[in-house]
Amino acid sequence: MPTFNLLSDIATYCAEKNCSIPDAMLDYELAQGRSSREAILAMLDKTLAVMEQAVEQGLTQLMLTKSGMLKNWAKTVFEAKVSTLGLPLQKAVARALAVSEVNACMGKIVAAPTAGSSGIMPATLVTMREEHQIPREKLIEGLLVSASVGLIFAKNSSFAGSEAGCMGETGSAAAMAASTIVYLLGGTIEQTFEAAGIALKGAMGLVCDPVAGLVEEPCAVRNAIGVANAFTSAQIALAGVKSLIPPDEVIFATKEVGELMSPRLKESALGGLANAKTAREIQKKVFRSDDVKLIGE
Ligand code: SF4
Repeated sequence: MPTFNLLSDIATYCAEKNCSIPDAMLDYELAQGRSSREAILAMLDKTLAVMEQAVEQGLTQLMLTKSGMLKNWAKTVFEAKVSTLGLPLQKAVARALAVSEVNACMGKIVAAPTAGSSGIMPATLVTMREEHQIPREKLIEGLLVSASVGLIFAKNSSFAGSEAGCMGETGSAAAMAASTIVYLLGGTIEQTFEAAGIALKGAMGLVCDPVAGLVEEPCAVRNAIGVANAFTSAQIALAGVKSLIPPDEVIFATKEVGELMSPRLKESALGGLANAKTAREIQKKVFRSDDVKLIGE
């Protein structure tokens, strides 16, 4: 039975078995008692379909959250006439916003790895499909690659905003997506995991400070920036740049940083943006109460 506690364990397994990361993850899943390769792939196909539908929904339907904080941002970005770095990145950013809006409007999303960070993987996969004509079977393999990074991150750090801040949510999602991109573009196993480490370095220390405690602001923009982080990190890794700190050590560092972070910055909505004057005014309006205790009052 494969035992994967580190990314390097997966890389070693692949070298010993002369197999790919998706094959290693299928072996891992089967060893956990999943029924068959076919069943796992069918489940991933459904997962991908939900991701694609969420992107479509966010870009075509009215997206207005009950709090009023998110208002069709995805469509606004998708249709914007000025691109900072070209249309593909503009669309990727819009797709990440789209799924975040669907999530905030209580629509159906895939929590990969969490609902708060659910925009990054779909935006990545849909963008890779469109820009690189990646076939569906390969995109499903990409999901297995993302799962390999997610598995090791979950074992050695935390997906929870309450433990690792937004670094644990959108940071880990960016790492999963960065590895997926490298795999889909034919990078080596070393480059694939290197991309995860680079993405996490870019998200190190990112706090969780949701306004009014709702997964809307700054969550949506953190998904948008997360997808940009993923493509940036993948680009660096694919170019062959090797980071000084190995990806497994970067994951351990995220755990330490999460532990050092103040509880006010870990999903409690007590600090950071959640404690900004405007955020507190929004919080009062959302909950229609003057009893909301403002920190510092
Ligand atoms: S700010 Fe907090 S709630 Fe929002 S996406 Fe990040 S971790 Fe999740």
